[in-house]
Amino acid sequence: MALGVAVIGMGWMGRVHTRAYARVHQHYPDLPTPELIAVADDVPGRAASAAEQFGFAASVSDWHELLDDPRIQAVSVTAPNFLHREMGVAFAAAGKHLWIEKPVGLSAADARAITGPGQVTVGFNYRHAPAVAKARELIRTGEIGAVTHARFSFCSDYAASPDDALTWRFERERGGSGVLGDLGSHAVDLIRHLLGEIVEVSADTAILIPQRRRALGATSGHQRGTGEPGPVENEDWFAALLRLESGARVTCEASRVAYGDPNHYGFTIYGTRGLLAWDFRRMGELRLRDATVFAGPGDGEFAAFQPGAAIAMSYDDLKVIEASLFLRSIVTGVPQGPGLADAIRAAEILEAMLAAASSGRNRTVVSESRSSG
Ligand code: NAD
Repeated sequence: MALGVAVIGMGWMGRVHTRAYARVHQHYPDLPTPELIAVADDVPGRAASAAEQFGFAASVSDWHELLDDPRIQAVSVTAPNFLHREMGVAFAAAGKHLWIEKPVGLSAADARAITGPGQVTVGFNYRHAPAVAKARELIRTGEIGAVTHARFSFCSDYAASPDDALTWRFERERGGSGVLGDLGSHAVDLIRHLLGEIVEVSADTAILIPQRRRALGATSGHQRGTGEPGPVENEDWFAALLRLESGARVTCEASRVAYGDPNHYGFTIYGTRGLLAWDFRRMGELRLRDATVFAGPGDGEFAAFQPGAAIAMSYDDLKVIEASLFLRSIVTGVPQGPGLADAIRAAEILEAMLAAASSGRNRTVVSESRSSG
């Protein structure tokens, strides 16, 4: 059985989704083989060269042309955040299944606006790491006792230098809430996935590099800026204190300007009988109390990739797992993995953090000298 797919936005994530479509049947032979029907990108030539490189049957610069194509059953929305709502609403209303990247728009309202008869899978990929699945199972079975508190950190350096370009990510109208939507949405999703619902937040945020140079020409991913200087409009950093439904306390920090600390995503979770810690940069390992344990067959989806514990998996493998959840949702009609409700809830919590930070609630001035918003 084949399933016709289209990819909208052929930057970093568009390429990752496309590679996942190419591999998903190899790892999950019971699932349909995605057929690459069309790719859309508005940068001249980008969709056409992607079609040639990856084997899409057609390429277009205007994604609207794909809305009524009956050969397309599923669509990856991998364009910048400000386009998620318009694209998501249109494709969902046209009856297409959606694999849409986080944060799903600029706000919870954007994510809520997307409704249709199809399945929706959201790109919260860190859930899928087999070591994270193992951590969830160890928590569920009481291995570390009752969780008392935890620390989640999603810090990276992709914008640590003022020379890193002012792209759509740094504009409020196109990128939304900066590092909150970008990395904070992953952190919030992982907290909820592992530890349960968040019920109260307080937070602080900052724009730490207020000006950058614009990128010259079309952008993709992260790059240097050599154009005119312009203002950074959204958050580079935030830290939040969270209370969970369980009563556990969590600190959550994210940064895009953590110099020298690329992709430092992970957590330490403390329970009454031990701790669990995970670092994305050593994705297959989990610290359980004072021991290192390795993810292996039996942990999450590990067995679909490798036959023995401690054989390294990759970031792209997480997206293959996500593609399998998307396809399985379509085949069974039963949602699997992170969906729209998770994106809406993450966005609501991030909005609560922004509101708490701007209200200054829980903040006490202890020196007159300096306290900047
Ligand atoms: P990017 O800038 O590399 O790519 C975006 C692409 O969309 C570009 O090729 C651009 O030309 C194209 N585009 C822009 N306007 C378009 C339009 N009107 N029609 C068609 N294409 C258009 O960005 P990226 O890093 O790939 O991020 C894209 C999305 O993926 C963002 O929402 C981001 O938050 C998300 N993302 C998720 C993860 C993850 O770990 N899940 C990682 C990176 C990015």
